[in-house]
Amino acid sequence: MPFAPATALLAPLAPWFDARRRPMPWRAGDLDAPHPDPYAVLVSEIMLQQTQVATVIPYFTRWMERFPDAEALAAATEDEVHGLWAGLGYYRRARNLQAAARAIAGAGFPRTLEGLLELPGLGPYTAAAVAAQAFQLPTPALDGNAFRVAARVLALEGDPRRHAAALRDWLAPALAAHGPSRLTQAVMELGATVCTPVPRCASCPLLGACAARARGLQERIPPVQPRAKVTEAEIHLAAIRSPRGWLLCPPASRGLLAGLWSWPRAEAAPELEGAAEAASGYGLEARELPGWVQVYSHRRETVRPIVARMASAPGAQGLEWVPGERLPELPMGRRDQKLRAALDAPGTPLTGAGLAALRTILDEGVSANPRS
Ligand code: SF4
Repeated sequence: MPFAPATALLAPLAPWFDARRRPMPWRAGDLDAPHPDPYAVLVSEIMLQQTQVATVIPYFTRWMERFPDAEALAAATEDEVHGLWAGLGYYRRARNLQAAARAIAGAGFPRTLEGLLELPGLGPYTAAAVAAQAFQLPTPALDGNAFRVAARVLALEGDPRRHAAALRDWLAPALAAHGPSRLTQAVMELGATVCTPVPRCASCPLLGACAARARGLQERIPPVQPRAKVTEAEIHLAAIRSPRGWLLCPPASRGLLAGLWSWPRAEAAPELEGAAEAASGYGLEARELPGWVQVYSHRRETVRPIVARMASAPGAQGLEWVPGERLPELPMGRRDQKLRAALDAPGTPLTGAGLAALRTILDEGVSANPRS
């Protein structure tokens, strides 16, 4: 079925965006010219993958102060990169961004969609979004927001991703007509603020043109995807100090948490027989801090933090004693940063289960870490 032409349908979006757009530090003032800093557009788009604008803004600002261009990022150490990204999650994005910066520092910023697609970490959406905003190329960028807006305006039933190629062909002339950067950002902005999963049609500039709204289908398009199952876990997270420093898990070289240091941990388990005696054998003084629930995309972790001091510094398989003065600069994920910030907080005497967790960590080392 041919779609009604996007150029006319989406025309009200351009003046709406010009009047209503939210200020963001990466947005250019002139929406009709190429962006003065394509690197800033690239950084913002990678940070915005799976992360909300309000969370990204302070990270973006700090990042641009420390790495103002691709050359500065290309020359940074992995620890510096992870340190500035720490807390933003999905750390592979930071590694990809640095790999992209190294490619750009060597060969220049690619100015075509094909060239952008060759940069590490840029899929079809990000490459198209950068091409449109940085270089004014009419390359449709379809993310969840854009698919939702397009599916509703056209009353497309079923999963709109099945129509990705047709929707790109449909959108491209509208981008060319209304300005690629302007219309790309306008669609994103509408999807983020008005045409949200529960749409606010009364405030929508496309109210008169929207086929889903005309047929009363706006709440059913697109169909809600079933959520991935969330697993629950309860862990002890232990900050153990000895005269040799803090006991830490060194960063993995691959995987989601590559490049990040973490505290050793053990799954919460019933009290182990003899744990208290073993603790006194190590000369342990320990307290339990108030816990919290750490939420990840597919996991909810109840964290029971422990701070312990030991008179001796036994070896623990796969763990390292790190001198105290290095602790503040180590890149860590959000959960581990939270314990690092609370090391001096008051706590309560450790229970038998906490002592059992410490003993498991000291006996088993890194292999006590629960899988996450
Ligand atoms: S009228 Fe409603 S459903 Fe249609 S685009 Fe606007 S907010 Fe979305």
